[in-house]
Amino acid sequence: LFISFEGIDGSGKSTQARLLAEALRAQGREVVLTREPGGSPGAEEIRKLVLTGERDRWSAETELLLFTAARRDHLERTIAPAIAAGQVVICDRFADSTRMYQGLSRGDLRAAVDQLHDLMIGREPDLTLLIDIDPATGLGRALSRGGDEERFESFGEGLQEKMRAGFLALAEEFSDRFVTIDGNRPLEDVAVDVAAVAGAHLS
Ligand code: C5P
Repeated sequence: LFISFEGIDGSGKSTQARLLAEALRAQGREVVLTREPGGSPGAEEIRKLVLTGERDRWSAETELLLFTAARRDHLERTIAPAIAAGQVVICDRFADSTRMYQGLSRGDLRAAVDQLHDLMIGREPDLTLLIDIDPATGLGRALSRGGDEERFESFGEGLQEKMRAGFLALAEEFSDRFVTIDGNRPLEDVAVDVAAVAGAHLS
């Protein structure tokens, strides 16, 4: 089973991905917890290229190609082998993040995102958990976390709102695999819902 987590910055999706991995491992399942951009040695190198340095280092188009290259490597080296071995793959962000960030936020590139996806990736998660959160809360969390990846940390609240609406629209578009979970609650409560949805797909 291939599960992805999506959401705006500060939504808590990375924490939820980790908690789900721990819960499934405690049940004796083999789990690969991975992330994008990154998730394989080559893709982690591309992550450094896109997330550090000057904000305008790459055009939106070049950035899309870099993210797609990273995803291809991640799929080949990490995700596909794990799925073939019968393991559960939990991925913190996947192609839906590119539909949002490169497709909607940085430029109007959604058609190019989809074409490249069909050509070079050709796989969607079986289940996508959208951790939906109030944009102001998400922005506050993302800013307080700081870190060295400042390239993407300078989002204003307007952009966070646009991204939130975009993710909710994506959940409608891909309603066969998306489940939206209210992330505006204590993380233990969110984790209970996440585990219930994932469990229903695993049994
Ligand atoms: O999920 P995580 O916090 O690791 O993502 C790192 C940054 O990369 C985020 O700030 C996110 O906005 C950005 N990103 C992006 N395009 C993607 C995936 C992530 O701009 N396709």
